[in-house]
Amino acid sequence: MYDVIIVGAGPAGSLLAKKLAEADLKILLVEQKKLPRHKMCSGVISSFARRILRKEGFGEVPDILCCHPKRIKGAHVYPKKGQPPYKLREKSCNVWRSDFDFWLTTKASEVGAEVLDQTRFIDFSEKKDTIEVNLKTIFGEQKEQAKILVGADSGTSSIRRTLFPAEKIVWTSVYQEYWRGEIDLDPQYLHTFLDREFSEFFALMNVKYGTKGKYIIINTNAMKGNTIPSYYNAFQEYLEEAHGFRGEKLLFKEACTSPKFFDASYEYKFGKRNILLIGEAAGLFNVFAEGISPALTSAVNASDAILKGGDQLLKQYTENVQPLCRSLKLGWEGLLEMFPNFIT
Ligand SMILES: Cc1cc2nc3c(=O)[nH]c(=O)nc-3n(C[C@H](O)[C@H](O)[C@H](O)COP(=O)(O)OP(=O)(O)OC[C@H]3O[C@@H](n4cnc5c(N)ncnc54)[C@H](O)[C@@H]3O)c2cc1C
Repeated sequence: MYDVIIVGAGPAGSLLAKKLAEADLKILLVEQKKLPRHKMCSGVISSFARRILRKEGFGEVPDILCCHPKRIKGAHVYPKKGQPPYKLREKSCNVWRSDFDFWLTTKASEVGAEVLDQTRFIDFSEKKDTIEVNLKTIFGEQKEQAKILVGADSGTSSIRRTLFPAEKIVWTSVYQEYWRGEIDLDPQYLHTFLDREFSEFFALMNVKYGTKGKYIIINTNAMKGNTIPSYYNAFQEYLEEAHGFRGEKLLFKEACTSPKFFDASYEYKFGKRNILLIGEAAGLFNVFAEGISPALTSAVNASDAILKGGDQLLKQYTENVQPLCRSLKLGWEGLLEMFPNFIT
């Protein structure tokens, strides 16, 4: 029997596993993919996220984990086609998420958390004082028991959907292409375009170097997947005309669905009884898709509630996470004030 089973080895799940294992709790961290796993992401680790990692004993993000350019100076936000950008300064690290997240998970494993990758959470049933969790490993089905279950299983969280079946989730589609080529935009910034021709929310361009050399990453999103091609094509053409994008070879493309978190009125979900939700599974998401610092903060908040003990687990966690919720809402409201065309 475990004290806590955590589903999802992203930043939220890995940090929580590390903190609880350090406090001598028996922890199982399950991840459906083979680790290190790819995650669709711009891979920008904000100064907020890095501050939490330092405080929680990870130290600095090692340079060897970063891809070139190793440091990002901030974001350039272009409110409309042809307009000059707002220059937001925010020193960040530039990583591939597979390396970064695996570093976090390894730290959890080093202090005693059991990590099971290629193991998918299927469902759970609640007994008197325990939760029975059904898992699917590469060898077949496996049942495990815990006192507490934590969903750190991303925005599409099946644990959240089981706990809140009536929740009306508004889904969005996200799409990105990785190109070899050249572009005249400064690679030390994340470039965010708010023009409605390019995306329903925001379109992104950033540059990273990987095993196959330089990657120019072009991203857009929309409410409906079938509208993505027209947004994406308009954005790529604009990058060609206005910013000298010369695509030589399309290396890779990927898509995902994500709940529409970009909203000051989004209702976070923190769990029920002895089942907690953290990170994106709770809906915690910062402006312009900065999701790693809220994931880490909510893991700290959940860890503090679990370690405090007592029968008011959810109440304690909900209280702990309020300052984060307030700062996220303020961020979304501030963004809307600054860029009124951001969201309809
Ligand atoms: C295109 C894009 C770009 C982004 N860029 C940035 C950025 O530059 N900086 C930033 O801070 N944030 C960025 N984000 C947001 C960020 O990626 C997320 O907010 C962050 O990863 C959330 O962390 P998490 O730990 O909550 O969940 P995740 O990192 O999503 O981890 C959840 C894990 O749970 C696993 N899982 C899911 N279901 C199951 C199951 N049933 N059984 C077992 N395992 C399961 C998944 O495989 C995954 O590994 C971006 C998001 C997108 C879509």
